[in-house]
Amino acid sequence: MTDIISLAAGMPYLAIPGPSVVPDQVLRAMHHHSSNIYEGPLVDMVPTIAQDLKRVARTDQNVAIYISNGHGLWEASLENVTSVGDQVLVAGNGRFSAGWAETARKLGRVVDVVDSGMATPWDMDGLRAALVADEPHDIKALLAVHVDTSGSIRNDVPALRALLDELAHPALLMMDCIASMGCETFEMDAWGVDVAITASQKGLMMPPGLGFVFFNEKATERRCAQERVSPYWDWSARSNPDVFYQYFCGTAPVQQLYGLRAALDMIHDEGVENVWKRHEILARAIWAAAEAWGQGGPLKLDVADPALRSHAVTALSLEAPDGTRLRKWCETHLGLTLGIGLRATPWGDPEWDAHFRFGHMGHVNGHMILGLLGGVETGLTACGIAHGSGAVEAAARVLAQNT
Ligand SMILES: *Cc1c(COP(=O)(O)O)cnc(C)c1O
Repeated sequence: MTDIISLAAGMPYLAIPGPSVVPDQVLRAMHHHSSNIYEGPLVDMVPTIAQDLKRVARTDQNVAIYISNGHGLWEASLENVTSVGDQVLVAGNGRFSAGWAETARKLGRVVDVVDSGMATPWDMDGLRAALVADEPHDIKALLAVHVDTSGSIRNDVPALRALLDELAHPALLMMDCIASMGCETFEMDAWGVDVAITASQKGLMMPPGLGFVFFNEKATERRCAQERVSPYWDWSARSNPDVFYQYFCGTAPVQQLYGLRAALDMIHDEGVENVWKRHEILARAIWAAAEAWGQGGPLKLDVADPALRSHAVTALSLEAPDGTRLRKWCETHLGLTLGIGLRATPWGDPEWDAHFRFGHMGHVNGHMILGLLGGVETGLTACGIAHGSGAVEAAARVLAQNT
């Protein structure tokens, strides 16, 4: 026992941009004995999971399921459609596009990044120039991130498709939707995305450990033209298995699959479009609060234009070291954990402590977001950080007006 009074006992709230809050229904579903992986209910369930994952990605095409986090999916997706020495172009505007580019480089792909800078819209002119200059069509794929979780910008995916179509460039359009899927509007087939990747631990409300690669016919043709693909990452049998174990290239992740079944049921019971709408309204409440805080102090949203802000994650800053002070205070005193900043600033640089993020992806609702915002308001006050008033009221107004 200590004599410091803390208000942190009670249910902790992890408001970081992944892993996200896992619903009780999902945790309970995962509390399951190991089942037979050769026949029976598990074997019958997996095709329903594949189908319902595709309904979240809005595709009628293919999905491969991996026992992996997001970094593995970067590799899995590249490995199926490109080879050592192939060129890929990356639309960069944050840490995660940089991470995918780095993975491609380490796999021996020749990588050209057109970087517009953190949380700044894609450099469409630069991308156009790179594609136009590629007369022989050596660029095999255009890689981009839908929501870059570092700066919390939401990118315009249809604009990339339109650019490729206008230039009649055959590069595959490959999207990292790890932060966005199940949170933001995303239409794989309607938007002409050839390969989309996502992981279990964000909008899909699951623990980390499962990853999904969606791919269309054009990507399948590329896969078939590959001389060699790593057997573990090969999506062919995983997406169209003759025998059950091929779904996972080995033992199925039994308990995770029961959890995923429950999570997909929750998403489809609510309706994918309603899920998107809920995220949008909750995000707008967060922005209203942040704008009010910013009126009377240094707090800033990384993305100034509301039309470009993610509905799943919000990156903010104070003056260093107050971002870190606020985070630590909220965690210690309220049981509320905010996300660290992921700017280009190296750890150890004093500027690093200016930045922080809110994760609001997946299993979040109005009272949780009001708790988050009320918690931050309390932290700003307790830490003596200047801030405008009326933030929680502004957020409450957004919620009240949108129900
Ligand atoms: C979280 C995230 C990743 C990385 O996922 P890991 O599971 O940590 O490997 C990649 N891209 C985006 C956009 C993300 O938000």
